[in-house]
Order: sequence, then structure tokens, then C-alpha cells
Amino acid sequence: MKIALVTGGSRGIGRAVCVGLSKSGYHVIINYNKNLTEAENTLNLIKENGGTGEILKFDVSNHLEVEKVLDQWKAKNRDNIIEVLVNNAGIRHDSLMMWMEDETWSDVINTNLNSFFYVTKQLIKEMMVNKFGRVINIVSLSGIKGMPGQVNYSAAKAGVIGATKALAQEVGKKNVTINAVAPGFIKTDMTTDLNEKELKALIPLNRFGEAHEVADLVAFLASKEASYITGEVISINGGIYT
Ligand code: NAP
Repeated sequence: MKIALVTGGSRGIGRAVCVGLSKSGYHVIINYNKNLTEAENTLNLIKENGGTGEILKFDVSNHLEVEKVLDQWKAKNRDNIIEVLVNNAGIRHDSLMMWMEDETWSDVINTNLNSFFYVTKQLIKEMMVNKFGRVINIVSLSGIKGMPGQVNYSAAKAGVIGATKALAQEVGKKNVTINAVAPGFIKTDMTTDLNEKELKALIPLNRFGEAHEVADLVAFLASKEASYITGEVISINGGIYT
């Protein structure tokens, strides 16, 4: 069985990625943190498309929980390997830095950056032994150019970009690729507070992106056809120049 794990698969980009990978033949592990109903909706969508999946709850920002839940999963699935990992779970908590609380900084760093380390470390060794693996990190335009009001989020995503490039060099010999996808403005719960009518003026394609458009890029990077791409950060932002 080909297995993929998508963190934050309950909503938005993560949900579209789950459905996309399922269409590529993966049994998809849908991770979520709080929203079981939405995780179940993702699983139903996968099933409606003729695929299979399962739901796995853990908080990606909690090292011990990530370790415990993934160790338990591995103990129950000794013959199976998670060969695709999409580190997608993320949060925004915007504030100008001069007013930013310590917690606002650390929550965003823990959920968007430290989670990369916690989850990927659990799975990378098996991918190397398997001599095939794909890690796809969902970063952001903010991590490439920096966004005012998002010093925490920009730092976290830029950190994941550095980690993507470094880890790609550590594991390439074992046929494991590590890439990052950097969306611009995508229509999800995360961007409902943004004014698309105003912001689309900044975007050459004159609209926000759809989650399934990001998912198609992720599915390509996960595929055998993307075998010679590693350590890259691929922007998907409607043409905003970075
Ligand atoms: P979203 O609609 O707000 O969904 C966030 C997902 O992450 C949910 O499934 C949520 O699970 C999960 N999540 C949050 N904290 C978690 C935690 N501690 N542990 C496990 N899961 C957690 O966000 P989105 O727009 O799809 O964003 C997905 C990724 O794309 C994020 O990394 C985001 O930074 C990045 N991104 C988004 C945009 C955009 O315009 N939307 C642009 C650039 C980058 P629950 O349902 O359980 O809460």
C-alpha cells in the first residue's frame, strides 16, 4: 500500500492535497488538531472519489504528542511505510512586531517551523531505508519576501525553506526528495479576513488561487515524474514577483 501523511488535512489546502494524493493512488493519513468533523469531511471526499484514508489526530507543535502518535501508528503498521509526507499544518497570528506578545511569536514558530522537525524526523529514516520518499513542505510567499505584520510567520516559513534545502542535501543519495511549495493568496479559512477585491490588484492573474491548484503542484512533486527535483522552493502565487 502506498501511504501519504498530510498534516492539517482537515481543511483548506491540506484537504485538497489529501484528495489529490488519493487520486494518485495513495492511502492518505489525514492529520488534524481540533476539527474532527472537517477531518471526517475530508475522508468522505476521498471515499467519494474511490480512495482510502484514515484520520490521525495530533498537534504538530507538540513534540511528545507527535512522537507518541506516530510511534503507535508505526507499531500497528509494521509492513507499511509512509513514503510521502506533506508538512502543511500551519497558523497565522499577525501583529506588528513592536506589539507582538511572546506567545504570538512562539505559537507561530512552533506550529509552522518546529513541526517540520518533529514530524519529518519521525519518518525520514524509513524513507531512506525504503530508498524512496517525498517530503513536501508548504511554506509561503511571506517566507520568501517577508510580510509586514507577519514577522513571526515570515521567520517560520523562511526557516522551513532553509531546512528544505539542507535536508535535501542530506538524503538525496537515498532517492528521497525534499521540496517546498510557496503559495501566495489562496482561498481558505486562513484568508477569509483578507479583502480579495483590493488585494487582487497586486496579483498579475488578478485573483486569489484555489486550494486544488496548490494540490495539483503537490501531487506532481510527490510523483515519480518529479524524481530529479529536490531542494527547490516552487512559488504558486498568480505571478507575484518574488
Ligand atoms: P487553514 O484553512 O486555516 O487550515 C489549517 C489546517 O492546519 C487545518 O487543517 C488545521 O487543523 C491544521 N492545523 C493548524 N494547527 C495545527 C496543529 N497544531 N496540529 C495539527 N494541525 C493543525 O489553512 P490553509 O490556508 O489551508 O493553510 C495550509 C498551509 O498553507 C499552512 O501552512 C499555511 O501557512 C500555508 N499557506 C496558506 C496560504 C493561503 O493563502 N491560504 C498562503 C501561503 C501559505 P484543524 O482543522 O484541526 O484546526
